[in-house]
Amino acid sequence: MDLYEYQARDLFEAHGVPVLAGIVAETPEEAKAAAEKLGGVTVVKAQVKVGGRGKAGGVKVAKNADEAYEYAKEILGMDIKGHTVHQVMIAEGADIKEEYYFSILLDRANRSYLAMASVEGGMDIEQLAEERPDDLARVEVSPSTGLNREVADKIVAEAKFAEDLRDKVAEVLVKLGDVYVKEDATLVEVNPLVLTGEGNLIALDGKVTVDDNADFRQPGHAELVDERTENPLEAKAEAKGLNYVKLDGNVGIIGNGAGLVMSTLDVVAYAGENHGGASPANFLDIGGGADAQIMADGLDVILGDADVNSVFVNVFGGITACDEVAGGIVKALEILGDSATKPLVVRLDGNKVDEGRAILAKANHPLVTLASTMDEGADKAAELANK
Ligand code: GDP
Ligand code: MN
Repeated sequence: MDLYEYQARDLFEAHGVPVLAGIVAETPEEAKAAAEKLGGVTVVKAQVKVGGRGKAGGVKVAKNADEAYEYAKEILGMDIKGHTVHQVMIAEGADIKEEYYFSILLDRANRSYLAMASVEGGMDIEQLAEERPDDLARVEVSPSTGLNREVADKIVAEAKFAEDLRDKVAEVLVKLGDVYVKEDATLVEVNPLVLTGEGNLIALDGKVTVDDNADFRQPGHAELVDERTENPLEAKAEAKGLNYVKLDGNVGIIGNGAGLVMSTLDVVAYAGENHGGASPANFLDIGGGADAQIMADGLDVILGDADVNSVFVNVFGGITACDEVAGGIVKALEILGDSATKPLVVRLDGNKVDEGRAILAKANHPLVTLASTMDEGADKAAELANK
């Protein structure tokens, strides 16, 4: 999950990274009150999970509280790269002398962490990496040591920070490394990390992505979820413990085992080429124990997707045999009753396939079509989706 800037700011503060005061506001009135509380120059910043807010007009320096009110009015409700601004952060103004860049992220290909730093902050970092790669220091950080002082010293030296600043910057980087490890982040980025007129370092803008796989040991992260930006179908699936990802096609997919579901997506997309471009509407892996309730929950989520025209259930019986899966489908359709309205193509294979097919044949549900192979099932489901 990506965090908002204000949430990143809070995590930074909790781990001792120097930040400026910031108050979240949802109305121009709240923004004005926040600016009055902070006093002096403030910055009104759109809170959206996308970069380049400054260039899009989502970051404005306000000389006083009345200006903060006006800017908040302008920015709230604004659309920035497809994201609606529901909140602004009113931040204490900074007297910026220099802007730097720092990030640490998960480097999957190298099974390691990668830290990047530059004394050319503020600007678009992708552009810097492309045009002047020598000005962007890249230092591998071993997950077994983390970003300790020794590594931080190496980063500041390679990024060519001024000699008299190196200790100070290294100290901040170690704390950002703490945020990365202790919060189970996969990305911590500060752009810009600024040097103020008084010679202080401040993380002025933070971007943090936390690893959802670590939620079980990060109870605090649940509070960071913003329901407004969650996909409602994914939220519903998550509440039911289903492994579901919404995609943008029209064929609902249910399978058991991530590998089988992945290949089902491919086969359906391929079959769709002959049927008006039908393609998968989701990924849903019901896992090993595909009982009636799980099947009903899965179908309930998929049938609740207005984009879905047909559903392809592709199950390979293993420990959970096909007769249990077939029984699950029949019961699921009973549970769903009239809310099941879209055609289902079912392909069963593997353990007890004949028994499974017999159960479905006997139930003879008007919405269910049996397919004997994965290709045939994909083709039928794509055809039905295109009707
Ligand atoms: P981004 O465009 O989404 O990355 O948003 P940032 O928070 O990085 O803000 C963009 C730019 O606005 C920064 O690079 C700064 O130059 C400027 N900015 C942000 N906060 C302040 C501030 O407190 N004072 C001043 N003078 N400029 C600021
Ligand atoms: Mn920024």
